[in-house]
Amino acid sequence: MKKILVVNAGSSSLKFKLYLMPSEEVLCSGIAERIMHEDAIFQIKINQQSYKEVLPISDHKKAVHLLVDALKKHNIIQSFDEIAAIGHRVVQGGKYYNKSVIFDESVAEKVHSLIDLAPLHNGPNLTGYRAFKEILPNIPNVATFDTAFHRSMAEEDFVFPIPYELTTKYDLYRYGFHGTSHEYLAIEGAKLLGQENLKIITCHIGSGASISAVKNGKCVATSMGLTPLGGIMMGTRTGDIDPSIVYFLCHKLNKDIQEVYDILNKKSGLLGVSGVSNDARDVDKAKAKGNERAILAQRLFIRRIADYIGQYFVRLGGADLIIFSAGIGENSHSFRQNVIKEISSALEIDFNEEINKNSRAITTLLTNPSSKVHVALIPTDEEVMIARDTFRLI
Ligand code: AMP
Repeated sequence: MKKILVVNAGSSSLKFKLYLMPSEEVLCSGIAERIMHEDAIFQIKINQQSYKEVLPISDHKKAVHLLVDALKKHNIIQSFDEIAAIGHRVVQGGKYYNKSVIFDESVAEKVHSLIDLAPLHNGPNLTGYRAFKEILPNIPNVATFDTAFHRSMAEEDFVFPIPYELTTKYDLYRYGFHGTSHEYLAIEGAKLLGQENLKIITCHIGSGASISAVKNGKCVATSMGLTPLGGIMMGTRTGDIDPSIVYFLCHKLNKDIQEVYDILNKKSGLLGVSGVSNDARDVDKAKAKGNERAILAQRLFIRRIADYIGQYFVRLGGADLIIFSAGIGENSHSFRQNVIKEISSALEIDFNEEINKNSRAITTLLTNPSSKVHVALIPTDEEVMIARDTFRLI
């Protein structure tokens, strides 16, 4: 048995989970939040018990110190060399990585070179790696990329129809994201049906949302694009729109491209259409009170998802299983039912509304045995995928 630490470093946060591998038992989990603030928070959860401190955390290195001290203080480890390896989530692996790799200086350089393609993520992911490398220099690190699972797509699925010289000069490809989640869902979906060689449509629907088409365990298409702005409509992001809207908004609002880009990323989606909130629960409440824009936002959201499922059904030449996951997909039975209502007659889905209504956040088959295409709810687990890859690589 080996202890594997899984880390997800954000710009002002550091999430962690310590696993015992290969049993996949979670020994503890937690987060350092508001890093660089005087009133930062460090929280660790052990056996359902949470310990929380409010204190200044000057940078990610300080957060790593707090973490390793807490592991010792709570007797989870006696010494640091009990940690066999550290697995890092890295959002953008670009054209370089189609699987997890040992995270060393050459990988760090590549991750750095990709910051332009994922400015909000790759920088902080790298900061996390450097902090661990400095404080625990003898423990090996592994990088798991959100984009890696999608590298199996064919060229016509990842090249955009812009001048090809620009595509290759700037590496402007459809990289797709949430890859670790889509891969996990496809594996768990195959386990649930007890079959291999399946055609699966995986729907990761949270505040960020994406859909993938998976054939025999390999991704053949995915909705997000060069950045996580593309694909289906999300909490605050547009998803795919006519690109000329960008041109019009710049002109009509007399705003520069950065300001309009911010509108597309932060002020659109459920929030922009409803005018209420980016949170699906708030939009639901407003809808229940008859708010017309909330009703429209939800109709748009459902329609975009149904359209992508239809597209991928054709792309795969049929489907054995559609999986719903992430914040909205796992928790909202009405959301799942609304999507299925749009597609059930074309796809001959025999949906069990009663089971759906009573299912939340636990792996459940939501269709009757006679269904041509099955539908399941599967809670995603990106951390355990990182732990598995890290354990395998060391
Ligand atoms: P995630 O990004 O996967 O953490 O998902 C976050 C989103 O899940 C939130 O913005 C909520 O809109 C949504 N969510 C969580 N619980 C529910 C629920 N019971 N009903 C509808 N949406 C939910």
